[in-house]
Amino acid sequence: SLTAGIVGLPNVGKSTLFNAITKAGAEMANYPFATIDPNVGMVEVPDARLQRIDELIPAKKIVHTTFEFTDIAGIVKGASKGEGLGNKFLENIRQVDAIVHVVRAFADDNVTHVSGKIDPLDDIETINLELSIADLDSVNKRFAKVEKVARTKDKEAIAELAVLQKIKPLLEQGGAVRSLDFTKEEQQIVKGLFLLTSKPVLYVANIAEDDMADPEQSPYYQVVKDYAAKENAEVIGISAKTEEEIAELGDDERQVFLEAEGVSESGLDRLIQASYHLLGLATFFTAGGVETRAWTFKQGMKAPQVAGVIHSDFERGFIKAEAVSFADLDEHGSMQAVKEAGKLRLEGKDYVVQDGDIIEFRFNV
Ligand code: GDP
Repeated sequence: SLTAGIVGLPNVGKSTLFNAITKAGAEMANYPFATIDPNVGMVEVPDARLQRIDELIPAKKIVHTTFEFTDIAGIVKGASKGEGLGNKFLENIRQVDAIVHVVRAFADDNVTHVSGKIDPLDDIETINLELSIADLDSVNKRFAKVEKVARTKDKEAIAELAVLQKIKPLLEQGGAVRSLDFTKEEQQIVKGLFLLTSKPVLYVANIAEDDMADPEQSPYYQVVKDYAAKENAEVIGISAKTEEEIAELGDDERQVFLEAEGVSESGLDRLIQASYHLLGLATFFTAGGVETRAWTFKQGMKAPQVAGVIHSDFERGFIKAEAVSFADLDEHGSMQAVKEAGKLRLEGKDYVVQDGDIIEFRFNV
C-alpha cells in the first residue's frame, strides 16, 4: 500500500508528530498494531460523509479507511555525501510514495536548532538540496549507461537520454524534478528513475501553540507558505506538540480543546486528509449491510480493480457496479428516492470510479 514519509532536519518535531499519529492510530480498535513496523503509523482517514451515509442507510457500525505514514529519521547537511546516516535516510525516502516535509516554525529557547537559528527557508533548502544532489548522482550514473546504448540507435535509450538531458541542468541548480512538465511518455520514463525530487511533497510548518488559531500571523509560517506556493505544493500549519497532547483525548474532549484554541478541526486531521490526496488516493463507500464502510482506491482505477480492493473474488467475478454518488444520496435522502430520481447507475468494467461513490458490486462466484 502507498505510504507518505515524514522528512525533515533533526529536532524540528518529526518524532512528536509521528507520536501524535501513532497515538491517534492506537485509538482505533480494529487494527493489529503488533504486526506493524515501528516506523510505520497507521491512521484512520477522517470523513464526515460516513456519518451522513450511516444516517440515511443505517448499519451496525462505521468503519473508516486507513493509510500509513512512515517516520524517516532526520536528514543532515551532507546526507547525499553519506553524512549522518545519509545514504540510509535517502534510501528510506526512496521507498515512500510522497513526502511530508516538516519544518520548524516555532521559537523555543529550550529546543536546540541544528544550525543554531530558526530559519525555515534555510532548513527547507538544506533538505531539498540534499535530495537534488542525490538525484543528480543517480542521473549521472544512468546517463553514462544510457548514452552508450543510445549510440546504437536504440529507441528507448534515445527517449530516456532526452529525459535525462532535460532533468540534469535543473538538478545541477538544486531544483526538484517535480517542478518540470512532462509528456505522458516522459512521465513513464521519469517514474522508472525513482528520483527523490519527483515525489509529490507537502510542507508541514510546525508552528507554536499560540499560532494555531491563525497560522498566517506567524512570519515563519509565511516563509514556508511562500516556498510551497512556488513549488505548487500545499502547506499545513500544525503544532506537533499540541497534536501529540490531544491525540490521546476522546473525541468529545478533543472537540472542547480545539474550540478553546479557536480551531474547528485538528491539525492532524487536516494533515491526514492532505497526505491522502497527495498520494493520489480516493474513497468509495459500501453501505446497507452490517457496516457503513470507507475504502481506499487509487484515483483513475476502473470498477473491477476497485472491486478487488474489497476482495480478489469481486475482481475476478466482476459483472457490474451499482453506484450512486454521495452528493446524490445526500440530496435525495434515501436509496428509494435516489432510484426514483434515476440516480442509481449500473456501471460496467470500464467505469472509472469516482471519489464518493457508494457502490454495490455484482459478481459471479
Ligand atoms: P525530531 O528530531 O524532528 O524528531 O524532533 P522531536 O519531535 O524529537 O522534537 C524535538 C524537540 O522539540 C523536543 O524536545 C520536542 O518536545 C520539541 N517540540 C516538538 N514540537 C514542538 C512544538 O510544536 N513546540 C515546541 N515548543 N516544542 C516542540
